[in-house]
Amino acid sequence: MAEFRNARFIASAHETHELPPDVGHEVAFAGRSNAGKSSAINAIAQRRQLAFVSKTPGRTQTVNFFECAPQRRLVDLPGYGYASVSRTERAHWERLIGTYFSQRASLKGLILIADARRGVGSLDEQLLRWYASSGDPVLVLLTKSDKLARTAAAKALIAAATLVKHCSPAATVELFSAVSGVGVRAAQMRISAWLDGNKKPPVKGE
Ligand code: GDP
Repeated sequence: MAEFRNARFIASAHETHELPPDVGHEVAFAGRSNAGKSSAINAIAQRRQLAFVSKTPGRTQTVNFFECAPQRRLVDLPGYGYASVSRTERAHWERLIGTYFSQRASLKGLILIADARRGVGSLDEQLLRWYASSGDPVLVLLTKSDKLARTAAAKALIAAATLVKHCSPAATVELFSAVSGVGVRAAQMRISAWLDGNKKPPVKGE
């Protein structure tokens, strides 16, 4: 997975017109603020500081683009769910992400990050429904799974998979941890396949 290790920041967009050229393939990461999205991106790219882990709650957020190979990008979407965010900011987020999801031809798949202890919430469900119309694959990563005992993690996985199927038939769910490394390799393989234009999940052990 050397391609992820070479990832470098290339662009940041606060408005639709600031998005980099829509060429090649990209995979976007979304999730509630504090769910563990930055840590997941860093774990997948095997880089400690690619996406910043400590952020100021509620600050204006941007869509951040990381290029891992020519015309292959990871995209960090702004986190959602801050209680303190104003209506104007929320409307701006919805417009930006709505346009990005509906118009971005190079977007080939979505990684949704949810805290395994909280599960998939109503905002996550909304996002999944929004994205489902694209028909592109979705991988839900239940992160911080290191904080759950094995049985609780297994239950969280079943609950999330059941919920997710209702809003996004193309979605699959996996346990993940940026701390223990659970699920990192599987996520890398899936993202790699999407970036190569292959939508099917790779066969286990491949
Ligand atoms: P973001 O707001 O979604 O980008 O979340 P961050 O990646 O900044 O993580 C939020 C908090 O959760 C930080 O304190 C991280 O150290 C912690 N965290 C993230 N991922 C994991 C994980 O897999 N395991 C544990 N134990 N903590 C995590």
